[in-house]
Amino acid sequence: MEKGRLFVVSGPSGVGKGAICHRLIKDRDLRFSVSMTTRKPREGEKHGEDYYFISHEEFQEIRNANGFLEHAEVYGNFYGTPCLEIQKTLSSGKDVLLDIDTQGALNVKKFCSEAIFIFILPPSKEELKRRIKARGTETEESLKTRLSAAINEISFLGNYDYCVVNDDLDIAAAQAGAIIEAERVRVSDDAEEVNAIIEKYKEGM
Ligand code: 5GP
Repeated sequence: MEKGRLFVVSGPSGVGKGAICHRLIKDRDLRFSVSMTTRKPREGEKHGEDYYFISHEEFQEIRNANGFLEHAEVYGNFYGTPCLEIQKTLSSGKDVLLDIDTQGALNVKKFCSEAIFIFILPPSKEELKRRIKARGTETEESLKTRLSAAINEISFLGNYDYCVVNDDLDIAAAQAGAIIEAERVRVSDDAEEVNAIIEKYKEGM
């Protein structure tokens, strides 16, 4: 059976990454990898759906047991991608979507170079500022921190395969969806796999 593909989505906070990922999960037959985090749940977030909310001790234990595909500290909280479920899903032929920061994405790239990396950009710096502010929880100080963290995230753009500008959510989600569909019909780099397809057409000739 063909293995599933691993899609990695990153982008600065406030760019609308979460909304794009939700659309992709709903419309494109992808499995979302639920991360583990030590951060406290925000209102409306569900354990096991948005994240697995765990203690520092639990995080440490899983990390020591090499249970994470990658992990990173983001804004003082720890986040990790549990490996077991991803491996099972990929082996069953299903595609998986990761929503992780650029540090995590670079780590995934080290040992999974065939993963597909998609970066979500805001239409402008001014719009990014406006969106971070609109989240409501930001003081002038934390706005500055978030904004400079966002610019730092954007500086890793060159490591990604695709870049989608989220000006209009419908258009951005359609573009990200088109990337996923295009990757699904890409001719494999594996010569054996390609030959097996060709042989099927030659059979009985
Ligand atoms: P938030 O706390 O706002 O949900 O997420 C903060 C940042 O952490 C986002 O950039 C998100 O993509 C990233 N993130 C979420 N889960 C993981 C993970 O498992 N690994 C890494 N490296 N980053 C993650």
